[in-house]
Amino acid sequence: MRKLFLSCIFVLAATAAVLAQQAKPDYSKITLVIHGGAGTITRANMTPEKEKAYKEALNLALQTGYDILKKGGSSLDAVEATVRVMEDSPLFNAGKGAVFTNDGTNELDAAIMDGKTRNAGAIAGVMIVKNPVSGARAVMEQSEHVMMIGRGAEKFAKEHDLEIVDPAYFRTETRYQQLQRLKNKEKTELDHSGGTGSTEKIFIEGNKFGTVGAVALDAFGNLAAATSTGGMTNKRYGRVGDVPVLGAGTYADNNTCAVSATGHGEFIIRSVVAHDIAALMEYKKYSVKKAAEEVVLKKLVERGGEAGVIALDRNGNFAMPFNSAGMYRGYIRNGKSEVAIYKE
Ligand code: ASP
Repeated sequence: MRKLFLSCIFVLAATAAVLAQQAKPDYSKITLVIHGGAGTITRANMTPEKEKAYKEALNLALQTGYDILKKGGSSLDAVEATVRVMEDSPLFNAGKGAVFTNDGTNELDAAIMDGKTRNAGAIAGVMIVKNPVSGARAVMEQSEHVMMIGRGAEKFAKEHDLEIVDPAYFRTETRYQQLQRLKNKEKTELDHSGGTGSTEKIFIEGNKFGTVGAVALDAFGNLAAATSTGGMTNKRYGRVGDVPVLGAGTYADNNTCAVSATGHGEFIIRSVVAHDIAALMEYKKYSVKKAAEEVVLKKLVERGGEAGVIALDRNGNFAMPFNSAGMYRGYIRNGKSEVAIYKE
């Protein structure tokens, strides 16, 4: 009896110790890493004004998410708020400023994933949800589903009081002109080849990408990832990219890492990029840097997929590899932040 009593006491004490440990926030490792898209981003096609504007927008996004983490907020709240800032900026291909489809519309995809619970939500092909990342979070938290698309996702967003806008809200002249240029190029190419030429190359060349994403580690050791995009310029009928496909463009698991990808979605989906990075860490015990570089700089290069990722582990180690000319990116940690654009 006495033995049983003592073991009960021991179990209770051990549980209390574990709970105390879990509840104690550790601010030394809180980290936020972001990207604003990878692609043909070179010094030659940038002006000092444009560069300054991008850096300011990236810094604002970083600061917004970091303020949440500093106050003991969750990584989930931080990635959502960070991505919203970039969705609201016309500079990035997400929310306002999204690229145009071949039909001349803006169709948005987004996803969010919680590394602690491995819960996730995604929406695709929406045209009226102001902040698609919040739509994805609502799917995760307020429905029994993981992914909703098109008009159904919009109906769900309205019913859950998400901010709804007219489709024209997303339109920017720059993106519209990008579509016109790509369509003209495509037409010229087809004319020259007598209608038999491949337009795939033009499709890729004309895409500067510009998707946005964030990964965060909060003071309670929890990871989260979020990504949002307008997809690729000139995309056809109902095309959905990698961003809302969990394990491809977005993934988070406290056991391994949080990942957000950008680049040519078709390649990212086929290589299940985000989960592949996590799997290398889980099964081969790779570091987050080695795993991310293996997938982006080796596997995707071999397969011809232009892309970049941000990946963060539970200790605050992170990597931002990309195989394109540039990637808008940045991180903030211990109050120190840095943003970059080119390969350098
Ligand atoms: N990955 C996005 C997509 O294919 C595009 C991008 O990263 O800009 O939809």
